[in-house]
Amino acid sequence: MTQQALFIIFGGTGDLAYRKLYPSLFRLYEKGYLKDDFAVIGTARRPWTNDHYHEVVMNAIADDGHESDRTNSEIARKFASHFYYQSHNVNDTEHYVALRKLADKLDEKYKLNGNRIYYLAMAPRFFGTIAGHLKSEKLITDHGYNRLIIEKPFGRDFETAKELNDDISAAFSEDQIYRIDHYLGKEAIQSIAALRFGNQVIESLWNKEHIDNIQITLAESLGVEERAGYYETAGALRDMVQNHILQIVSLLTMQKPSEYTAKELRDRKVEALQNIKVYSAKEASKNFVRGQYGEDAEHEQLDYRHEEGTDEHSQIETFVAGKLETTNGNLTGVPIYIRTGKRLARKSRQINVVFKDTTDNVFTATGEQDTKLEQNVLTLYVEPDQGYQLDLNVKNGSQGYGIMPIHLEYHKTSAEKAKVPEAYEKLIHDALDGNRTNFAHWHEVAQAWRIVDVVRQNWDSQKTDFPNYVSGTMGPKAAQELLTRDHRDWVFGATKH
Ligand code: NAD
Repeated sequence: MTQQALFIIFGGTGDLAYRKLYPSLFRLYEKGYLKDDFAVIGTARRPWTNDHYHEVVMNAIADDGHESDRTNSEIARKFASHFYYQSHNVNDTEHYVALRKLADKLDEKYKLNGNRIYYLAMAPRFFGTIAGHLKSEKLITDHGYNRLIIEKPFGRDFETAKELNDDISAAFSEDQIYRIDHYLGKEAIQSIAALRFGNQVIESLWNKEHIDNIQITLAESLGVEERAGYYETAGALRDMVQNHILQIVSLLTMQKPSEYTAKELRDRKVEALQNIKVYSAKEASKNFVRGQYGEDAEHEQLDYRHEEGTDEHSQIETFVAGKLETTNGNLTGVPIYIRTGKRLARKSRQINVVFKDTTDNVFTATGEQDTKLEQNVLTLYVEPDQGYQLDLNVKNGSQGYGIMPIHLEYHKTSAEKAKVPEAYEKLIHDALDGNRTNFAHWHEVAQAWRIVDVVRQNWDSQKTDFPNYVSGTMGPKAAQELLTRDHRDWVFGATKH
Protein backbone atom coordinates (compact mmCIF):
# COMPACT_ATOMS: atom_id res chain seq x y z
CA MET A 1 0.00 0.00 0.00
CA THR A 2 1.38 3.43 -0.85
CA GLN A 3 0.52 6.63 0.89
CA GLN A 4 -0.39 10.06 -0.34
CA ALA A 5 0.65 12.73 2.10
CA LEU A 6 2.04 16.19 2.47
CA PHE A 7 4.81 16.46 5.03
CA ILE A 8 5.42 19.85 6.56
CA ILE A 9 8.75 19.72 8.37
CA PHE A 10 9.37 22.53 10.84
CA GLY A 11 13.12 22.77 11.37
CA GLY A 12 13.85 21.70 7.79
CA THR A 13 17.41 23.08 7.90
CA GLY A 14 18.26 21.31 11.17
CA ASP A 15 20.44 18.37 12.08
CA LEU A 16 17.61 15.91 12.69
CA ALA A 17 15.99 16.62 9.34
CA TYR A 18 19.32 16.22 7.55
CA ARG A 19 20.60 13.11 9.28
CA LYS A 20 17.38 11.21 9.86
CA LEU A 21 14.25 12.52 8.17
CA TYR A 22 15.41 13.03 4.58
CA PRO A 23 17.29 9.70 4.38
CA SER A 24 14.32 7.87 5.95
CA LEU A 25 11.84 9.41 3.54
CA PHE A 26 14.18 8.47 0.69
CA ARG A 27 14.33 4.85 1.78
CA LEU A 28 10.54 4.72 1.89
CA TYR A 29 10.54 6.16 -1.63
CA GLU A 30 13.14 3.67 -2.87
CA LYS A 31 11.03 0.84 -1.46
CA GLY A 32 7.96 2.19 -3.25
CA TYR A 33 6.05 3.00 -0.08
CA LEU A 34 6.05 6.64 -1.08
CA LYS A 35 5.34 7.01 -4.79
CA ASP A 36 4.74 10.11 -6.89
CA ASP A 37 1.86 11.39 -4.82
CA PHE A 38 3.71 12.90 -1.91
CA ALA A 39 5.33 16.26 -1.23
CA VAL A 40 7.42 17.82 1.48
CA ILE A 41 7.52 21.41 2.60
CA GLY A 42 10.61 22.24 4.62
CA THR A 43 10.42 25.37 6.71
CA ALA A 44 12.96 27.19 8.84
CA ARG A 45 14.32 30.69 9.18
CA ARG A 46 17.06 30.54 6.55
CA PRO A 47 16.22 32.04 3.16
CA TRP A 48 16.86 28.98 1.00
CA THR A 49 15.63 28.51 -2.57
CA ASN A 50 13.95 25.32 -3.73
CA ASP A 51 17.05 24.50 -5.80
CA HIS A 52 19.30 24.81 -2.80
CA TYR A 53 16.88 22.71 -0.76
CA HIS A 54 17.00 19.96 -3.39
CA GLU A 55 20.80 19.94 -3.16
CA VAL A 56 20.66 19.69 0.61
CA VAL A 57 18.21 16.78 0.43
CA MET A 58 20.41 14.97 -2.11
CA ASN A 59 23.50 15.55 0.05
CA ALA A 60 21.64 14.17 3.06
CA ILE A 61 20.85 11.02 1.08
CA ALA A 62 24.47 10.70 -0.07
CA ASP A 63 25.87 11.21 3.43
CA ASP A 64 23.57 8.53 4.74
CA GLY A 65 24.01 5.97 1.99
CA HIS A 66 26.67 3.51 1.05
CA GLU A 67 26.38 4.13 -2.66
CA SER A 68 28.65 7.03 -3.55
CA ASP A 69 26.67 8.04 -6.61
CA ARG A 70 23.33 8.25 -4.87
CA THR A 71 23.15 12.04 -5.17
CA ASN A 72 23.46 11.85 -8.92
CA SER A 73 21.13 8.98 -9.40
CA GLU A 74 17.94 9.64 -11.28
CA ILE A 75 15.84 8.34 -8.40
CA ALA A 76 17.44 10.76 -5.91
CA ARG A 77 16.78 13.70 -8.24
CA LYS A 78 13.20 12.65 -8.78
CA PHE A 79 12.71 12.25 -5.05
CA ALA A 80 14.21 15.69 -4.27
CA SER A 81 11.93 17.34 -6.81
CA HIS A 82 9.03 16.68 -4.40
CA PHE A 83 10.62 19.03 -1.84
CA TYR A 84 9.63 22.69 -1.43
CA TYR A 85 11.25 25.17 0.87
CA GLN A 86 9.59 28.05 2.60
CA SER A 87 11.40 30.50 4.83
CA HIS A 88 9.40 30.83 7.98
CA ASN A 89 9.52 32.29 11.45
CA VAL A 90 7.31 30.20 13.68
CA ASN A 91 6.00 33.21 15.59
CA ASP A 92 4.82 35.11 12.53
CA THR A 93 1.16 34.53 11.63
CA GLU A 94 1.62 35.78 8.05
CA HIS A 95 3.98 32.92 7.33
CA TYR A 96 1.33 30.35 8.20
CA VAL A 97 -1.00 31.98 5.70
CA ALA A 98 1.69 31.61 3.01
CA LEU A 99 2.34 28.07 4.20
CA ARG A 100 -1.35 27.21 3.86
CA LYS A 101 -1.46 28.52 0.31
CA LEU A 102 1.57 26.46 -0.66
CA ALA A 103 0.16 23.42 1.14
CA ASP A 104 -3.20 23.73 -0.67
CA LYS A 105 -1.42 24.13 -4.01
CA LEU A 106 0.70 21.03 -3.46
CA ASP A 107 -2.31 19.13 -2.23
CA GLU A 108 -3.97 19.73 -5.56
CA LYS A 109 -0.86 19.23 -7.67
CA TYR A 110 0.04 15.86 -6.11
CA LYS A 111 -3.54 14.76 -5.34
CA LEU A 112 -2.85 14.30 -1.63
CA ASN A 113 -6.48 14.08 -0.43
CA GLY A 114 -5.85 16.58 2.36
CA ASN A 115 -3.55 14.14 4.22
CA ARG A 116 -1.01 16.09 6.23
CA ILE A 117 1.82 15.16 8.55
CA TYR A 118 3.34 18.00 10.53
CA TYR A 119 6.81 17.09 11.78
CA LEU A 120 8.11 19.38 14.51
CA ALA A 121 11.89 18.89 14.27
CA MET A 122 12.53 21.93 16.43
CA ALA A 123 13.07 22.89 20.03
CA PRO A 124 9.97 21.99 22.11
CA ARG A 125 9.44 25.60 23.21
CA PHE A 126 8.03 26.19 19.72
CA PHE A 127 5.58 23.25 19.71
CA GLY A 128 2.68 25.13 21.32
CA THR A 129 2.84 28.13 19.04
CA ILE A 130 3.19 26.01 15.90
CA ALA A 131 0.26 23.76 16.82
CA GLY A 132 -1.86 26.80 17.68
CA HIS A 133 -1.09 28.54 14.39
CA LEU A 134 -1.72 25.39 12.36
CA LYS A 135 -5.22 25.42 13.76
CA SER A 136 -5.94 29.17 13.72
CA GLU A 137 -4.57 29.64 10.20
CA LYS A 138 -6.52 26.60 8.98
CA LEU A 139 -3.67 24.43 7.80
CA ILE A 140 -5.44 21.52 9.44
CA THR A 141 -7.66 20.08 6.73
CA ASP A 142 -11.20 18.90 7.22
CA HIS A 143 -10.79 16.12 4.68
CA GLY A 144 -7.90 13.65 4.92
CA TYR A 145 -5.88 13.02 8.06
CA ASN A 146 -3.81 15.46 10.12
CA ARG A 147 -1.01 14.01 12.23
CA LEU A 148 1.44 15.83 14.44
CA ILE A 149 4.84 14.22 15.04
CA ILE A 150 6.85 15.70 17.86
CA GLU A 151 10.35 15.10 19.10
CA LYS A 152 11.74 14.72 22.56
CA PRO A 153 12.34 16.26 25.03
CA PHE A 154 8.67 16.41 25.98
CA GLY A 155 8.99 18.90 28.85
CA ARG A 156 11.58 19.19 31.60
CA ASP A 157 9.36 17.77 34.33
CA PHE A 158 5.72 16.81 34.82
CA GLU A 159 4.53 20.45 35.05
CA THR A 160 6.21 21.68 31.88
CA ALA A 161 5.23 18.50 30.03
CA LYS A 162 1.62 19.05 31.03
CA GLU A 163 1.70 22.66 29.85
CA LEU A 164 3.15 21.53 26.55
CA ASN A 165 0.56 18.82 26.24
CA ASP A 166 -2.28 21.23 27.01
CA ASP A 167 -0.93 23.59 24.33
CA ILE A 168 -0.76 21.03 21.57
CA SER A 169 -4.00 19.37 22.68
CA ALA A 170 -5.82 22.64 22.00
CA ALA A 171 -5.20 22.00 18.30
CA PHE A 172 -4.73 18.21 17.97
CA SER A 173 -6.50 15.32 19.67
CA GLU A 174 -4.48 12.57 21.36
CA ASP A 175 -5.08 10.19 18.45
CA GLN A 176 -3.53 12.74 16.06
CA ILE A 177 -0.37 13.16 18.17
CA TYR A 178 2.67 10.96 17.51
CA ARG A 179 5.30 11.43 20.22
CA ILE A 180 8.59 10.06 18.98
CA ASP A 181 10.77 7.95 21.20
CA HIS A 182 13.14 6.54 18.62
CA TYR A 183 13.97 3.58 20.87
CA LEU A 184 10.46 2.35 20.12
CA GLY A 185 11.48 2.18 16.47
CA LYS A 186 14.47 -0.03 17.17
CA GLU A 187 14.21 -3.64 16.08
CA ALA A 188 15.56 -5.04 19.35
CA ILE A 189 13.11 -3.04 21.46
CA GLN A 190 10.21 -4.06 19.24
CA SER A 191 11.40 -7.64 19.68
CA ILE A 192 10.69 -7.63 23.42
CA ALA A 193 7.02 -8.41 22.86
CA ALA A 194 7.84 -11.21 20.38
CA LEU A 195 10.27 -12.76 22.83
CA ARG A 196 7.85 -12.56 25.76
CA PHE A 197 4.58 -13.48 24.07
CA GLY A 198 5.80 -15.61 21.17
CA ASN A 199 7.57 -18.24 23.26
CA GLN A 200 5.71 -20.41 25.72
CA VAL A 201 8.99 -21.36 27.37
CA ILE A 202 9.69 -17.73 28.20
CA GLU A 203 6.14 -16.58 28.85
CA SER A 204 5.63 -19.26 31.47
CA LEU A 205 8.73 -18.15 33.37
CA TRP A 206 8.09 -14.40 33.18
CA ASN A 207 6.96 -13.94 36.77
CA LYS A 208 8.21 -13.27 40.29
CA GLU A 209 8.44 -16.98 41.04
CA HIS A 210 11.17 -17.40 38.43
CA ILE A 211 12.75 -14.01 37.72
CA ASP A 212 15.19 -12.73 40.32
CA ASN A 213 15.84 -9.32 38.78
CA ILE A 214 15.91 -7.41 35.50
CA GLN A 215 18.79 -5.19 34.40
CA ILE A 216 18.80 -2.55 31.70
CA THR A 217 22.11 -1.02 30.64
CA LEU A 218 22.42 1.71 28.00
CA ALA A 219 26.17 2.34 28.10
CA GLU A 220 27.95 4.81 25.88
CA SER A 221 31.72 4.98 25.42
CA LEU A 222 31.68 8.49 23.95
CA GLY A 223 31.59 11.67 26.01
CA VAL A 224 29.28 14.61 25.56
CA GLU A 225 30.81 15.45 22.14
CA GLU A 226 29.13 18.49 20.52
CA ARG A 227 25.97 18.32 22.60
CA ALA A 228 27.16 20.15 25.73
CA GLY A 229 24.71 23.03 25.26
CA TYR A 230 21.73 20.69 25.36
CA TYR A 231 23.23 18.28 27.84
CA GLU A 232 23.97 20.95 30.44
CA THR A 233 20.23 21.62 30.63
CA ALA A 234 19.20 17.97 30.53
CA GLY A 235 21.56 15.40 32.08
CA ALA A 236 21.34 11.63 31.80
CA LEU A 237 18.16 11.30 33.86
CA ARG A 238 16.10 13.48 31.53
CA ASP A 239 17.96 12.50 28.39
CA MET A 240 17.77 8.71 28.76
CA VAL A 241 15.78 7.52 31.77
CA GLN A 242 12.53 9.50 31.52
CA ASN A 243 11.95 8.32 27.97
CA HIS A 244 13.99 5.41 26.56
CA ILE A 245 14.67 3.44 29.74
CA LEU A 246 11.15 3.78 31.16
CA GLN A 247 9.68 2.80 27.79
CA ILE A 248 11.82 -0.34 27.89
CA VAL A 249 10.73 -0.98 31.49
CA SER A 250 7.09 -0.75 30.45
CA LEU A 251 7.59 -3.29 27.64
CA LEU A 252 9.38 -5.67 29.99
CA THR A 253 6.89 -5.44 32.85
CA MET A 254 3.53 -4.99 31.12
CA GLN A 255 0.89 -7.69 31.33
CA LYS A 256 0.15 -9.64 28.17
CA PRO A 257 -2.01 -7.60 25.76
CA SER A 258 -5.13 -9.46 24.60
CA GLU A 259 -4.03 -8.66 21.04
CA TYR A 260 -1.05 -6.83 19.56
CA THR A 261 -2.81 -3.59 18.69
CA ALA A 262 -1.87 0.01 19.46
CA LYS A 263 -4.75 0.45 21.88
CA GLU A 264 -4.13 -2.75 23.85
CA LEU A 265 -0.40 -2.28 23.96
CA ARG A 266 -0.67 1.30 25.14
CA ASP A 267 -3.16 0.40 27.86
CA ARG A 268 -0.86 -2.33 29.15
CA LYS A 269 2.20 -0.03 29.00
CA VAL A 270 0.41 2.79 30.83
CA GLU A 271 -0.66 0.28 33.49
CA ALA A 272 2.91 -1.00 33.79
CA LEU A 273 4.31 2.51 34.29
CA GLN A 274 1.60 3.40 36.76
CA ASN A 275 2.68 0.38 38.74
CA ILE A 276 6.30 1.52 39.02
CA LYS A 277 6.69 2.96 42.48
CA VAL A 278 7.01 6.76 42.66
CA TYR A 279 9.57 7.14 45.43
CA SER A 280 9.56 9.52 48.37
CA ALA A 281 12.62 11.82 48.49
CA LYS A 282 14.25 9.49 51.00
CA GLU A 283 13.61 6.38 48.92
CA ALA A 284 14.88 8.16 45.80
CA SER A 285 18.19 9.00 47.44
CA LYS A 286 18.58 5.40 48.55
CA ASN A 287 17.67 3.91 45.17
CA PHE A 288 19.23 6.29 42.64
CA VAL A 289 22.86 7.27 42.16
CA ARG A 290 24.41 9.82 39.83
CA GLY A 291 27.85 10.27 38.36
CA GLN A 292 29.90 12.60 36.21
CA TYR A 293 32.94 11.44 34.30
CA GLY A 294 36.45 12.53 35.13
CA GLU A 295 39.58 12.02 33.03
CA ASP A 296 40.49 8.54 31.89
CA ALA A 297 43.24 6.60 33.67
CA GLU A 298 45.87 7.72 31.11
CA HIS A 299 44.80 11.39 31.38
CA GLU A 300 44.21 11.47 27.65
CA GLN A 301 40.54 12.37 27.69
CA LEU A 302 39.06 15.45 29.27
CA ASP A 303 36.80 15.28 32.25
CA TYR A 304 33.23 16.46 31.61
CA ARG A 305 33.77 19.87 33.19
CA HIS A 306 36.58 20.65 30.74
CA GLU A 307 34.68 19.62 27.61
CA GLU A 308 33.78 22.46 25.27
CA GLY A 309 30.58 24.22 26.27
CA THR A 310 30.21 22.76 29.77
CA ASP A 311 30.20 24.66 33.04
CA GLU A 312 33.43 24.19 35.01
CA HIS A 313 31.36 23.64 38.16
CA SER A 314 28.67 21.64 36.41
CA GLN A 315 26.40 19.54 38.61
CA ILE A 316 24.96 17.75 35.58
CA GLU A 317 25.06 13.97 35.75
CA THR A 318 26.54 11.98 32.86
CA PHE A 319 25.62 8.73 34.60
CA VAL A 320 22.56 7.38 36.38
CA ALA A 321 21.89 4.05 38.00
CA GLY A 322 18.76 3.18 39.88
CA LYS A 323 16.56 0.47 41.25
CA LEU A 324 12.88 0.50 40.34
CA GLU A 325 10.11 -1.40 42.04
CA THR A 326 7.06 -2.74 40.26
CA THR A 327 3.72 -3.90 41.58
CA ASN A 328 2.52 -4.96 38.14
CA GLY A 329 0.74 -8.31 38.16
CA ASN A 330 2.93 -11.35 38.29
CA LEU A 331 6.20 -9.39 38.34
CA THR A 332 5.34 -7.67 41.61
CA GLY A 333 8.46 -7.28 43.72
CA VAL A 334 10.98 -8.11 41.00
CA PRO A 335 13.67 -5.39 41.21
CA ILE A 336 14.57 -3.61 38.00
CA TYR A 337 18.07 -2.15 37.94
CA ILE A 338 18.71 0.49 35.33
CA ARG A 339 21.93 2.18 34.28
CA THR A 340 23.04 4.61 31.61
CA GLY A 341 26.05 6.82 31.17
CA LYS A 342 28.67 8.39 28.98
CA ARG A 343 32.35 7.51 28.75
CA LEU A 344 31.76 4.05 30.12
CA ALA A 345 34.01 1.08 29.45
CA ARG A 346 32.21 -0.02 26.30
CA LYS A 347 29.28 0.97 24.16
CA SER A 348 26.68 -1.65 24.86
CA ARG A 349 22.95 -1.47 25.21
CA GLN A 350 21.52 -4.63 26.65
CA ILE A 351 18.78 -6.09 28.79
CA ASN A 352 19.48 -8.96 31.16
CA VAL A 353 16.76 -11.03 32.74
CA VAL A 354 18.30 -12.93 35.65
CA PHE A 355 16.44 -16.04 36.79
CA LYS A 356 16.37 -17.32 40.34
CA ASP A 357 18.93 -19.68 41.79
CA THR A 358 18.26 -23.39 41.71
CA THR A 359 17.82 -23.95 45.42
CA ASP A 360 17.88 -27.76 45.43
CA ASN A 361 21.14 -28.58 43.65
CA VAL A 362 21.08 -32.37 43.34
CA PHE A 363 24.60 -32.48 41.93
CA THR A 364 26.43 -31.59 45.14
CA ALA A 365 25.82 -35.17 46.26
CA THR A 366 28.17 -36.38 43.49
CA GLY A 367 31.15 -35.01 45.40
CA GLU A 368 32.45 -33.43 42.16
CA GLN A 369 34.28 -30.11 42.36
CA ASP A 370 32.33 -28.29 39.64
CA THR A 371 28.74 -28.58 40.68
CA LYS A 372 27.94 -24.89 41.13
CA LEU A 373 24.82 -23.88 39.24
CA GLU A 374 25.01 -20.36 37.81
CA GLN A 375 21.84 -18.32 37.48
CA ASN A 376 20.18 -18.61 34.09
CA VAL A 377 20.30 -15.28 32.31
CA LEU A 378 18.40 -14.23 29.21
CA THR A 379 20.14 -11.33 27.46
CA LEU A 380 18.72 -9.18 24.73
CA TYR A 381 21.43 -7.25 22.91
CA VAL A 382 20.06 -3.98 21.58
CA GLU A 383 23.11 -2.20 20.16
CA PRO A 384 25.62 -2.23 18.60
CA ASP A 385 25.28 -5.99 18.68
CA GLN A 386 21.74 -7.23 18.01
CA GLY A 387 20.86 -10.62 19.33
CA TYR A 388 19.90 -12.92 22.15
CA GLN A 389 21.72 -15.08 24.64
CA LEU A 390 20.55 -17.66 27.12
CA ASP A 391 22.97 -18.82 29.82
CA LEU A 392 22.44 -22.44 30.84
CA ASN A 393 24.24 -25.04 32.96
CA VAL A 394 25.21 -28.32 31.28
CA LYS A 395 27.37 -31.33 32.06
CA ASN A 396 31.02 -30.43 31.67
CA GLY A 397 32.25 -33.47 29.75
CA SER A 398 34.11 -35.10 32.60
CA GLN A 399 33.89 -38.74 33.68
CA GLY A 400 32.00 -37.66 36.79
CA TYR A 401 29.13 -35.23 37.04
CA GLY A 402 30.66 -31.79 36.84
CA ILE A 403 28.67 -28.83 35.61
CA MET A 404 29.68 -25.93 33.38
CA PRO A 405 27.91 -22.80 32.18
CA ILE A 406 27.31 -22.28 28.45
CA HIS A 407 25.71 -19.55 26.35
CA LEU A 408 23.17 -20.24 23.64
CA GLU A 409 23.62 -17.27 21.35
CA TYR A 410 22.08 -15.78 18.27
CA HIS A 411 23.58 -12.61 16.83
CA LYS A 412 22.36 -10.88 13.71
CA THR A 413 24.99 -10.79 10.99
CA SER A 414 25.99 -7.45 9.45
CA ALA A 415 23.99 -8.36 6.36
CA GLU A 416 20.90 -9.09 8.50
CA LYS A 417 21.39 -5.88 10.46
CA ALA A 418 21.68 -3.88 7.25
CA LYS A 419 18.25 -5.14 6.17
CA VAL A 420 16.52 -3.87 9.30
CA PRO A 421 14.90 -0.50 8.61
CA GLU A 422 16.38 2.33 10.64
CA ALA A 423 14.24 3.48 13.60
CA TYR A 424 13.13 6.76 11.99
CA GLU A 425 12.22 5.00 8.76
CA LYS A 426 10.02 2.57 10.69
CA LEU A 427 8.39 5.31 12.73
CA ILE A 428 7.64 7.54 9.74
CA HIS A 429 6.21 4.49 7.98
CA ASP A 430 4.01 3.83 11.04
CA ALA A 431 2.88 7.47 11.15
CA LEU A 432 1.89 7.27 7.48
CA ASP A 433 -0.08 4.12 8.28
CA GLY A 434 -1.77 5.80 11.24
CA ASN A 435 -0.25 3.15 13.50
CA ARG A 436 0.56 4.61 16.93
CA THR A 437 1.79 1.37 18.52
CA ASN A 438 5.36 2.63 18.68
CA PHE A 439 4.69 6.17 19.84
CA ALA A 440 4.37 7.33 23.44
CA HIS A 441 0.92 8.14 24.81
CA TRP A 442 0.55 11.21 27.02
CA HIS A 443 -0.28 9.01 30.02
CA GLU A 444 3.05 7.22 29.59
CA VAL A 445 5.00 10.47 29.32
CA ALA A 446 3.20 11.92 32.35
CA GLN A 447 3.84 8.89 34.53
CA ALA A 448 7.48 8.70 33.47
CA TRP A 449 7.97 12.29 34.62
CA ARG A 450 6.34 11.54 37.97
CA ILE A 451 8.84 8.71 38.46
CA VAL A 452 11.95 10.77 37.62
CA ASP A 453 10.86 14.15 39.04
CA VAL A 454 11.42 13.03 42.64
CA VAL A 455 14.94 11.91 41.80
CA ARG A 456 15.67 15.15 39.96
CA GLN A 457 14.34 17.34 42.78
CA ASN A 458 16.45 15.42 45.25
CA TRP A 459 19.59 15.95 43.22
CA ASP A 460 18.85 19.59 42.47
CA SER A 461 18.58 20.30 46.17
CA GLN A 462 22.02 18.92 47.07
CA LYS A 463 25.38 19.55 45.50
CA THR A 464 27.61 16.55 45.04
CA ASP A 465 31.29 15.95 44.52
CA PHE A 466 31.91 15.53 40.80
CA PRO A 467 33.68 14.03 38.95
CA ASN A 468 33.16 10.69 40.64
CA TYR A 469 34.09 8.12 38.03
CA VAL A 470 37.06 7.57 35.79
CA SER A 471 36.33 7.65 32.07
CA GLY A 472 36.49 4.16 30.63
CA THR A 473 35.06 2.45 33.73
CA MET A 474 31.48 1.37 34.42
CA GLY A 475 30.57 4.39 36.55
CA PRO A 476 30.84 5.38 40.19
CA LYS A 477 31.30 2.96 43.05
CA ALA A 478 27.79 3.67 44.28
CA ALA A 479 26.34 2.04 41.12
CA GLN A 480 28.00 -1.20 42.09
CA GLU A 481 26.86 -0.90 45.69
CA LEU A 482 23.26 -0.54 44.57
CA LEU A 483 23.38 -4.24 43.66
CA THR A 484 25.98 -5.44 46.13
CA ARG A 485 23.76 -4.39 49.03
CA ASP A 486 21.03 -6.65 47.57
CA HIS A 487 23.60 -9.49 47.23
CA ARG A 488 23.49 -9.16 43.46
CA ASP A 489 25.81 -8.09 40.70
CA TRP A 490 25.55 -6.45 37.29
CA VAL A 491 25.55 -9.13 34.62
CA PHE A 492 27.35 -6.85 32.19
CA GLY A 493 30.35 -4.82 33.30
CA ALA A 494 30.32 -5.46 37.04
CA THR A 495 33.22 -3.55 38.58
CA LYS A 496 35.20 -4.41 41.62
CA HIS A 497 36.21 -1.03 43.03
P1 NAD B 1 18.77 22.07 15.12
O1 NAD B 1 19.16 23.17 16.04
O2 NAD B 1 19.80 21.44 14.24
O3 NAD B 1 17.59 22.56 14.19
C1 NAD B 1 16.58 23.43 14.63
C2 NAD B 1 15.76 23.94 13.45
O4 NAD B 1 14.79 24.87 13.92
C3 NAD B 1 16.57 24.67 12.38
O5 NAD B 1 16.05 24.29 11.13
C4 NAD B 1 16.27 26.14 12.66
O6 NAD B 1 16.37 26.97 11.53
C5 NAD B 1 14.83 26.06 13.10
N1 NAD B 1 14.40 27.22 13.89
C6 NAD B 1 14.88 27.62 15.10
N2 NAD B 1 14.21 28.73 15.50
C7 NAD B 1 13.26 28.99 14.57
C8 NAD B 1 12.24 29.99 14.43
N3 NAD B 1 12.04 30.93 15.36
N4 NAD B 1 11.45 29.94 13.34
C9 NAD B 1 11.64 29.02 12.40
N5 NAD B 1 12.58 28.06 12.45
C10 NAD B 1 13.38 28.05 13.53
O7 NAD B 1 18.07 20.98 16.05
P2 NAD B 1 17.91 19.40 15.76
O8 NAD B 1 19.12 18.71 16.28
O9 NAD B 1 17.53 19.16 14.36
O10 NAD B 1 16.73 18.99 16.75
C11 NAD B 1 15.38 19.32 16.51
C12 NAD B 1 14.51 18.66 17.57
O11 NAD B 1 14.69 17.25 17.53
C13 NAD B 1 14.85 19.06 19.01
O12 NAD B 1 13.66 19.03 19.74
C14 NAD B 1 15.76 17.94 19.47
O13 NAD B 1 15.75 17.79 20.88
C15 NAD B 1 15.12 16.77 18.78
N6 NAD B 1 16.03 15.64 18.58
C16 NAD B 1 17.11 15.75 17.75
C17 NAD B 1 17.92 14.66 17.55
C18 NAD B 1 19.11 14.73 16.62
O14 NAD B 1 19.70 13.67 16.38
N7 NAD B 1 19.47 15.87 16.09
C19 NAD B 1 17.64 13.44 18.19
C20 NAD B 1 16.53 13.35 19.03
C21 NAD B 1 15.73 14.46 19.19
